[in-house]
Amino acid sequence: MIPFGRRGAPLPGPLKSMTKGDLFIVSAPSGAGKSTILRNVLSRMDGIAFSISHTTRPMRAGEQEGVDYFFVSQERFQEMVRQNAFLEWAEVHGNFYGTSKGFVEEVRSSGRDVVLDIDVQGAFQVKEKVPDAVLVFVLPPSMEELERRLRRRGTEDDSTISLRLANARAELEAVSRYDFIVVNDELERAVQGMEAIILSRRLSARRMLPILPEEFR
Ligand code: ADP
Ligand code: 5GP
Repeated sequence: MIPFGRRGAPLPGPLKSMTKGDLFIVSAPSGAGKSTILRNVLSRMDGIAFSISHTTRPMRAGEQEGVDYFFVSQERFQEMVRQNAFLEWAEVHGNFYGTSKGFVEEVRSSGRDVVLDIDVQGAFQVKEKVPDAVLVFVLPPSMEELERRLRRRGTEDDSTISLRLANARAELEAVSRYDFIVVNDELERAVQGMEAIILSRRLSARRMLPILPEEFR
């Protein structure tokens, strides 16, 4: 009997060491709603882990150490770079951010999927090293709405918002190099879009063949 999850996806949990989990990279201009979409997807799907990045950015109100990020000093970050602890790292909006290589490897080896919320520079660094990584770009419905969301979130001051909007234009140039595009107009639809992308990889022959009954292999 093929183990199926709540939402019809094969459950990779008990399939340890049979197939490696997939790596999903989600990028978006700041304020597009990427964190909101991922929070919903992660609360609804089994067998997928969020990669918590290390950052030198100051903690925002409401954020928690080890939940949103591992907040580290510049010195500690540079030390981790020297130790080759990052799968990728980049300077974004004036702060450093990096993805833990060990965590990503550990999750994938256990048969679970892992999702990275990283910027476009980081996404392409990972794609070079992990060619089968799935690149997903989240777009706001319009630039006007992007600015409205950034302001409504109220976590950045005016100059930081201006910097993030200016960077958004450069980031948007990378859209055509991504595998999937999710427009975050209506949240539920965007969440379902992201879930569909993840499910499509779980139904790939690579993932399915090892768990099919003997007679189908
Ligand atoms: P990001 O992680 O891309 O920077 P957030 O997830 O923090 O963006 O979302 C930015 C703001 O927009 C938040 O206040 C969030 O509640 C809001 N938001 C997210 N998705 C939607 C949506 N579909 N419609 C309206 N507001 C949204
Ligand atoms: P924020 O400061 O709003 O949390 O994130 C700012 C930007 O940094 C976002 O585009 C986010 O995707 C990106 N980011 C977060 N973690 C990482 C990481 O580990 N590596 C890279 N390259 N970008 C990251």
